[in-house]
Amino acid sequence: MFSSLSEKLQDVFKKLRGKGKLTEKDIKEAMKEVKLALLEADVNYKVVKDFINTVTQKAVGEEVLESLTPAQQVIKIVYDEMVNLLGGSDTKLAFSPSGFSIYMLVGLQGSGKTTTAGKLAGLLKRQGKNPLLVACDIYRPAAIKQLEIVAQKVGVKCFADYNSKDAVKIAKEGIEFAKASRCDVAIVDTAGRLHINQELMDELVAIKNAIKPTEILLVLDAMTGQDAVNVAAAFNEQLGIDGIIMTKLDGDTRGGAALSVKAITGKPIKFAGVGEKMEDLEAFHPDRMASRILG
Ligand code: GDP
Repeated sequence: MFSSLSEKLQDVFKKLRGKGKLTEKDIKEAMKEVKLALLEADVNYKVVKDFINTVTQKAVGEEVLESLTPAQQVIKIVYDEMVNLLGGSDTKLAFSPSGFSIYMLVGLQGSGKTTTAGKLAGLLKRQGKNPLLVACDIYRPAAIKQLEIVAQKVGVKCFADYNSKDAVKIAKEGIEFAKASRCDVAIVDTAGRLHINQELMDELVAIKNAIKPTEILLVLDAMTGQDAVNVAAAFNEQLGIDGIIMTKLDGDTRGGAALSVKAITGKPIKFAGVGEKMEDLEAFHPDRMASRILG
């Protein structure tokens, strides 16, 4: 992931390091190259413009130009801004103070929602929690079955009702079942569609109002680039989300969605999907990711 962006940025920094003292012109030229690299990585245009303006403003200051290690300072400024772009320090999953947390997973069909529900249950179980999966994707029986399979794989229970066509009722019953079973986390898998439509949003809003989730997590496919960012903006506007789980980062060589989505929606990426296996879900750390990109 981010391999081509990473290579290009490292080239720019290598050139800067080779120069010793830097002039304002050197920095502006370097920033032009950084801008191109970000655009080629499919980062949103406005996000790139703001990023370059902020970094340039900080980097042409006297402190940097007069310093003995100006290239290092410029790289540090780029790093700090990239950490901000990737979500700053605001990426931890929130737990309910009541001791019982509900996470509602939403997203388009094919984004990896059901797989991610299983992965998240597995990850929380490894952290000592006792999660229950709730199958509210009632339109596709195969989706319910799939959720039962992933639940089995990670060793957690799954609440499903193949006969009901009422997603809100299932969600509520699932929560009650979780509490009665002494679970401390319920992960509700909701229906997806190929595209956002009013019917989908209405159903999600109804589930949200009925179960009052601790967090609504939007599952987004990184490989769909700026489309993913548009999807995030729409879900956030119409439903309100608390965070993002970016899937398929392992197959995404560019990284544009991951680098744009926080700036566009104001909502951070909390987890990253990095493969098809149940253990391939990682907490998202902007600082580590920025270090990985900048080398
Ligand atoms: P849903 O329709 O949103 O529930 O999507 P699924 O959970 O069925 O996932 C769709 C496809 O994406 C499946 O083949 C998953 O194995 C795959 N997938 C999900 N997450 C990841 C990921 O992080 N990396 C990779 N490489 N594949 C993923």
